[in-house]
Amino acid sequence: MHYDLSQVKIKRTNNPSNPTTCLYLSIVIPLYNEEESVEKLLSELFEAGKQFEFAYEIILVDDGSTDRTWETIERLKKTTPQLRAIKFRRNYGQTSAMVAGFDYAKGEIIVTMDGDLQNDPSDIPMLLEKIEEGYDIVSGWRKDRKDHVFRVLPSRVANAIISSTTHIRLHDYGCSMKAYRAECVKSLKAYGEMHRFFPALASMTGARVTEVPVKHHSRKYGVSKYGFERILKVFSDIFAMNLIIRFSSNPLKGFVLCAVPFLFLTLFFGGLALLALILQWTAGKAIFFMVATALTGMAVAHLLTLGVVSELVVSTSDLSHTRMPEVTKKRIAQRA
Ligand code: UDP
Ligand code: MG
Repeated sequence: MHYDLSQVKIKRTNNPSNPTTCLYLSIVIPLYNEEESVEKLLSELFEAGKQFEFAYEIILVDDGSTDRTWETIERLKKTTPQLRAIKFRRNYGQTSAMVAGFDYAKGEIIVTMDGDLQNDPSDIPMLLEKIEEGYDIVSGWRKDRKDHVFRVLPSRVANAIISSTTHIRLHDYGCSMKAYRAECVKSLKAYGEMHRFFPALASMTGARVTEVPVKHHSRKYGVSKYGFERILKVFSDIFAMNLIIRFSSNPLKGFVLCAVPFLFLTLFFGGLALLALILQWTAGKAIFFMVATALTGMAVAHLLTLGVVSELVVSTSDLSHTRMPEVTKKRIAQRA
């Protein structure tokens, strides 16, 4: 993949409508035991930053490293005013590290990338160009991915499932190299391995998402922080994600759908119990139908109660579609 970076001209104006935003770009990078990569990463970022015509910050999130990652960050901070850093007491995972970075970021645009030199900071201008075209999220696609086949294959399967079960069509959900309008991700509540679903979650609030091919390099230092157990985590997150996407705005509907078959069973067994009493079938049969009616009826009552409770929980939570997300508010304000 080759870009003519000299053609990349990033349009940038200060945003007078938002006096609290003083920076255009925050680059958020989670690091877990990446001591050998940190210094090189920063010099790559500065090389890319030479063509930035705006102020930016780099936020390194040390996700509970046990090597000298934090010591290296502290040393580099002394000579690097753009560098801000967060340290976790223990390893919380890449998603939590990214969410902490989002909270801390002051930029209007947030770019995320890995800290192991597999992503290439020279792609950042291209992502920003797309944002300036009007997208809220630009996701990188490692078209020429430099990872082992055992890593790439499960990822392809996960990508295919996510693509067919969410309404966002991307080739590479797992690529960390992404650019976001800050208001699209600041309010995201994510856990587990959910960073790959940020575009799908944000698009629920009306964010416009696109994808661009980005460079990818093989890991030079250290080792990948994930093993086969990630496959399980990713698939359970796909399930959780689909629940959130489908039912977060109206969970009662989902529970009512589940209750319908039990309701039919209740009516069926109830009818048979009535017939058993009227036609005086054996006592055993009558009791069996009455117990079956009671059990299926209880299932209906439980499901409906859960549905009502979930509806109440969601209506007061951030997932509620009755609350207007920041990105929508901003768009309305722009139109006014
Ligand atoms: N990472 C992290 N916390 C973790 C696991 C990973 O902050 O618990 C960081 C890691 O240091 C790297 C990025 O997330 O900067 C991606 O991790 P890795 O390179 O191990 O993933 P892979 O490229 O193998 O998918
Ligand atoms: Mg990596």
